[in-house]
Amino acid sequence: MAMRTIETSTVAAPPSSMWAMVLTGPRRPLQHIHVPVPLLGSHDVLVRVSACGVCQLDRLLVDSLLPRARYPVIPGHAVVGQVVEVGRAVQGFSAGHRVGMPRLGWACGSCQACRRGLEHLCGLARLMGVTDDGGLAEYVRADHRFCVHLPSHLSDSALAPLLCEGATAYRALRMLGDARRVGLYGSATATRLAADLARLRGREASSFPQEEHTPPASGLDAALVFSPAKGMVRHALEAVVDGGKVVWVSDVPGHRASIAVPQLAEERRVHWVAGATRSDLQDLLALAGTSPLEPAVEVFPMAIAEKALARLRTGRAAGSVVLASP
Ligand SMILES: [Zn+2]
Ligand SMILES: [Zn+2]
Repeated sequence: MAMRTIETSTVAAPPSSMWAMVLTGPRRPLQHIHVPVPLLGSHDVLVRVSACGVCQLDRLLVDSLLPRARYPVIPGHAVVGQVVEVGRAVQGFSAGHRVGMPRLGWACGSCQACRRGLEHLCGLARLMGVTDDGGLAEYVRADHRFCVHLPSHLSDSALAPLLCEGATAYRALRMLGDARRVGLYGSATATRLAADLARLRGREASSFPQEEHTPPASGLDAALVFSPAKGMVRHALEAVVDGGKVVWVSDVPGHRASIAVPQLAEERRVHWVAGATRSDLQDLLALAGTSPLEPAVEVFPMAIAEKALARLRTGRAAGSVVLASP
């Protein structure tokens, strides 16, 4: 049952209303309006947002290609902020704690996917900024069991992209097993972050950004593709050795369905990744806590989220796109 519990602490209690960027429907502009501050369930924390990463998933949400999207919705699913209130059953998080909130806001824990450790594929999953309100707002509510503590030496803006793009890239790299020579195809920001992660793990990474004259590669042990374009997947399949694996990171439903069979000859395989589990994220953050990993970011004020999305569309951002609260 929804409730409000104010913890005794130095953190200021939230007001009853807040500003938020609300998407009222597909292909509509984000509205910067006042809405009620969310009430908490017993497992929830209320977080004052300081930074929120945006990625291609947000672009798809705005362009209405996401089947599970609920409108109106407050987008934003890679959120860093400070806990200001906690529900009755919350453990491990208190008012004042810095906290990270990934896209996976909740999973059932009992379906076949959840029982197999694939909670990000749970059919009942709640997704922050898609099925539930997200972080393009002054405050956001999240189930504490899906929130994470963050390494203290990284800034809020540097951490935000790790919660989505970083965790997904980490999972995709993990699927490559012991592949040494890895090609990274597609979005410049995602490939840059993946290249840093690959090198930290002792792999040799070459990047092939999403441009028409991508040079042909060959002899790669494996490849990651951060693009909905099938052409990129074909490039990658041609570049890997026989038996090599291509992991396709794409949120676009349907685009992953058909790859021409001849391309899959010589035991080359395509795997699909969309999202990450809590354990992927926790392992990534443990790595970030002990390694020189600092994602390049381009930071925009949250009030001009539309401009940030436009920048994302150009594919020419100087780093992962992050929106910062005033
Ligand atoms: Zn994302
Ligand atoms: Zn489930």
